[in-house]
Amino acid sequence: MQVNYAEHKKRHYTLKNVRLETGFIKDESGVIATQTDLFCVEINNGQVSQVFANDEQLADAIDAKGLLMLPAFKDMHIHLDKTLYGLPWQALSPKRRTVADMIAYEQEIIPHLLKTSVERAGQLINLLQNYGTTFARTHFNVDTTSGLRSLENLEKALNNKKGTFSAELVAFPQHGLYYTDSAALMKEAAQLPNVSFVGGLDPFSIDGDIEKAIDFTVQLAIDNDKGIDIHLHDAGEEGIRTIEYLIEHTLKNPPLQGKTYVSHAFALAHLSQKAAEGISEKLSEAKVGIVSSVPFRNKITMPIPTLVKHGVEVLVGNDNVQDYWSTFGTGNMLQKAKLIAELYGWETEFDLSRTLRFATKGTLPLDNNGAMQWPMTGDDADIALVDASCSAEAVSRMSPVNILISKGNMVPLKS
Ligand SMILES: [Zn+2]
Repeated sequence: MQVNYAEHKKRHYTLKNVRLETGFIKDESGVIATQTDLFCVEINNGQVSQVFANDEQLADAIDAKGLLMLPAFKDMHIHLDKTLYGLPWQALSPKRRTVADMIAYEQEIIPHLLKTSVERAGQLINLLQNYGTTFARTHFNVDTTSGLRSLENLEKALNNKKGTFSAELVAFPQHGLYYTDSAALMKEAAQLPNVSFVGGLDPFSIDGDIEKAIDFTVQLAIDNDKGIDIHLHDAGEEGIRTIEYLIEHTLKNPPLQGKTYVSHAFALAHLSQKAAEGISEKLSEAKVGIVSSVPFRNKITMPIPTLVKHGVEVLVGNDNVQDYWSTFGTGNMLQKAKLIAELYGWETEFDLSRTLRFATKGTLPLDNNGAMQWPMTGDDADIALVDASCSAEAVSRMSPVNILISKGNMVPLKS
């Protein structure tokens, strides 16, 4: 579909022939299909200002031609600052096996990567946008090799995309707080207004002291009124101990609740069902969320249904899209939702439609009873128009995004 972006740079416009979900069709077995209808949706000043009955004849409207309107997607864990995307193909090296190997490699390669990281972050954002994503939680390296230069370049790249893409930033001590001496740099980064989260990396296996690293991270977050989002690959007892220690801190410090996250948290993947239920209850009570790229190899399957059942916030991201850690990220949040649906057997119309929330950070067009809840007047106009008949189809087929709107702005897409 061709949209004249220059023509629609205006902040006030109406879309016609927009397909919205209006309810579930049920029989005695439950939900068997999703009902939709065509509407006009008016956008003004970055928000949805009105949803009204379709008027095919409406002059000056953008014709959505029956595309399904969904909330634009949100990638909740990515590293925009150090992608190899856009450079010649490079698979992983068999020489680098451990996180420590990767740190040594980064110390060597980062000075070179920084020379072009503004441009490559821009290319990766383009890829995300073409799959319907307008927002990311992006980690950026804070380490003794790059200092805060990864952040400077990331901010330049985000500034180039101002109006069509936005992000929240996590200061990530990729080379450890103490494994390399990065604690002072983290203090500097945590004070910056554009930084929303204090990150971390494997307090046990990298920094060698769970309490010391978590105490520092928690204090830094409290002192600067930030959230926490730590990378935790450590499995087994130490991984669980790290999560439980973070939970203890969060229970003692209510301002951290609802903005403390553990990314990856592979330790949860090896628990018995009973133990998974137990830690899910604790995470839920402390309002500590889990962020996952949805791993499924080496017998790692995260207990996402158990976490969700206990009300733990589960966020999803691509993490790596072609870099020296992994080359398997696609940048497509619908692919992550589809993977979740496949892994956990969420394959009915109802279950598939609910699974869309992993691509949208929780926003769904219909509530569990089938009542319309998005878009409403006053909602941010962050919108993906998708070539699908309903959310369930969009997840299952990973349907293409033909029109993308970020804060009311039409985002140019590759056709
Ligand atoms: Zn990561």
